Amino acid sequence: MKQDILIIGGGVAGLSAAAHLAPHATITLLEAESATGYHTSGRSAALFEEHYGQVSTIALNRASRSFLETQDGGFLSPRGFMLVGMEGQDKAFDDDMAVMNLDEITADQACSIIPVLNHDVITRYGHATGAQDIDTDRLMQSYTKIMRSHGGQIITNARVESMSRTDDRWQVIAGGNSYTADVVINAAGAWASQIARMAGAQDICIQPYRRSVARIPAPLGLDVSGWPILFGPGETWYAKPDAGALIISPADEDPVEPHDAWAEDITLAEGIASYQEVVTEDVTRVTSNWAGLRSFAPDRNLVLGFDSLAPGFFWCAGQGGYGMQSSPATGQLVADLIIGHPPEIDAEIISRISPARFD
Ligand SMILES: Cc1cc2nc3c(=O)[nH]c(=O)nc-3n(C[C@H](O)[C@H](O)[C@H](O)COP(=O)(O)OP(=O)(O)OC[C@H]3O[C@@H](n4cnc5c(N)ncnc54)[C@H](O)[C@@H]3O)c2cc1C
Repeated sequence: MKQDILIIGGGVAGLSAAAHLAPHATITLLEAESATGYHTSGRSAALFEEHYGQVSTIALNRASRSFLETQDGGFLSPRGFMLVGMEGQDKAFDDDMAVMNLDEITADQACSIIPVLNHDVITRYGHATGAQDIDTDRLMQSYTKIMRSHGGQIITNARVESMSRTDDRWQVIAGGNSYTADVVINAAGAWASQIARMAGAQDICIQPYRRSVARIPAPLGLDVSGWPILFGPGETWYAKPDAGALIISPADEDPVEPHDAWAEDITLAEGIASYQEVVTEDVTRVTSNWAGLRSFAPDRNLVLGFDSLAPGFFWCAGQGGYGMQSSPATGQLVADLIIGHPPEIDAEIISRISPARFD
């Protein structure tokens, strides 16, 4: 008989787990908001960069590539990556060059790619073509479609308020209704520690950090669609083409309580100032802005696996800044571990991300 599985959270983590589990189990996904993808998953920079993240994240990024390239015609399109360094930034620049596998290029080469770079202040340029854009809306729609085609359901406006376990089944109260299940998956993003406390599960601190984004018109009205994402050394800021405009992030990481995040003007100004320093054109207008919560465990590895204290309680949390690009492999691993299929992911990686490391 198929297991009943409740998934708490309708971001990319919950949706991907739902899609991968739905052929094998009866899935109900509970989402507190009126729509899925409302919080962090609707606010990402939508980049796939295989070399970005912890060793465990990189393994999951790699294992995600084939799904992202082939499912439903693929979700990736070319973007590329450029790193620009100024005087005094050599150490951080060299570290990024090594980690991100970048080639050093000349000022002329860089200018032929991004014509507004200020060569009077930039001293070094790194470049690679591997980074890609992810069509994140379509990716989440695809997970939803797969889940629904196997009979899974999504219930919105269903904020989980309490949980208890009797006779080997979970009882969950959400949005005034009661649900029961063999297994509960904690995919509540920034709220994952709160959900764990309700279940009497391990006390793992999943800390949300705010990251802000400003959108500005394309400089000089240029066609920026072919520009790579532009990074400051040590992930101090970035700028990325987005729908004919540029989005700029100060790459902020302010620890906050879980909430509906918004950007502060002062933080956005810092990001714009960093970008402004390396380009020749002034930023005159911000057309919109937003913020999202990147949530990390203390060691910055994902937390994925059955809880050590609460039976039938499964963690899928702490995706940090990589939850989109790693979501296919993450969802597959959730399904493999719950259904009992041999996982494709290496055992060493599975133990690095297991909640058991916090026992
Ligand atoms: C500015 C920014 C840029 C980013 N750029 C990238 C990028 O380029 N590439 C990349 O791969 N990743 C990126 N990320 C990270 C990525 O967006 C996240 O890792 C991912 O979206 C996390 O997904 P999630 O499902 O865990 O969380 P969320 O999307 O936040 O979903 C959690 C859901 O749980 C629900 N929930 C919470 N509590 C309850 C409850 N009690 N009952 C029911 N539901 C509940 C919430 O309403 C929410 O919808 C970025 C993030 C930010 C903020």
